Amino acid sequence: MTAKSIIDINQLSYRYEKDTVLEQINLAIPEGSFLAIVGPNGSGKSTLLKLILGLLKIQKGEIYLFGEELSKFKDWQKIGYVSQKANSFNTGFPASVFEVVLSGLTKKVGMFKFFKKEHSQKVMDALTAVGMEKFSNRNIGELSGGQQQRVFIARALVSDSKLLILDEPTVGVDAENVGTFYQMLEDLNKKRGITLLLVTHDIGTVSDKVTHVACLNKHLFFHGEAQEFEKLTSEGIQDFYGHGIHLLSHHHH
Ligand code: ADP
Repeated sequence: MTAKSIIDINQLSYRYEKDTVLEQINLAIPEGSFLAIVGPNGSGKSTLLKLILGLLKIQKGEIYLFGEELSKFKDWQKIGYVSQKANSFNTGFPASVFEVVLSGLTKKVGMFKFFKKEHSQKVMDALTAVGMEKFSNRNIGELSGGQQQRVFIARALVSDSKLLILDEPTVGVDAENVGTFYQMLEDLNKKRGITLLLVTHDIGTVSDKVTHVACLNKHLFFHGEAQEFEKLTSEGIQDFYGHGIHLLSHHHH
């Protein structure tokens, strides 16, 4: 038996005005996968995420989330999302790490009159999952970019999320911490069984960190295991994009 799909995308196309930015995308993301969607700037990654999150109206094609057609899907607490601009708190922002994560819970379950021990436990559990439990009382603004990013992941995770969607998650992470950051994501995936979908333009560093890769450039021109992707790119990333672009132009004729 194959794992059930957390996200199923069928024949999805999207255009802004006259510009088609996504064309006939088919993509199934099975439960438990750790998928990176890679593509250069302007390749349609954010547009695809916005469609999945219901932030843009579907024009053509279908998206299913947890087996439910997107327009009927209501279980949004199952999905955690961290946007590219998440870690933009400055050092003066007066909120503790605990409060930032708690705000993710109230956003999804409604404001509390007073929060219970159960909620506090959920916050601490989410912080533990990202290795930040010792920082719960710290001011969010005092943390490094990578630490803040972990806190925002905890905020997205706090209500028993099954799927985590990350837009360019390593942008604020120092180069020397990128490895441990991906290790933390791998733990979320392997130990907690959370399905992970991230998008990045950083095609060079991500493929040995994830289990699956999908390459987007208006069309989806590769989707498969990360190892297979590495084999294909062993001649160089430039070549692979060239190859992809070649495939695209072939597709048009
Ligand atoms: P990526 O996330 O891969 O950088 P985007 O999905 O943001 O790509 O953008 C894909 C294409 O759509 C780009 O050419 C971009 O300029 C264009 N685009 C994005 N948003 C809009 C918009 N609101 N109106 C018109 N064009 C847009």
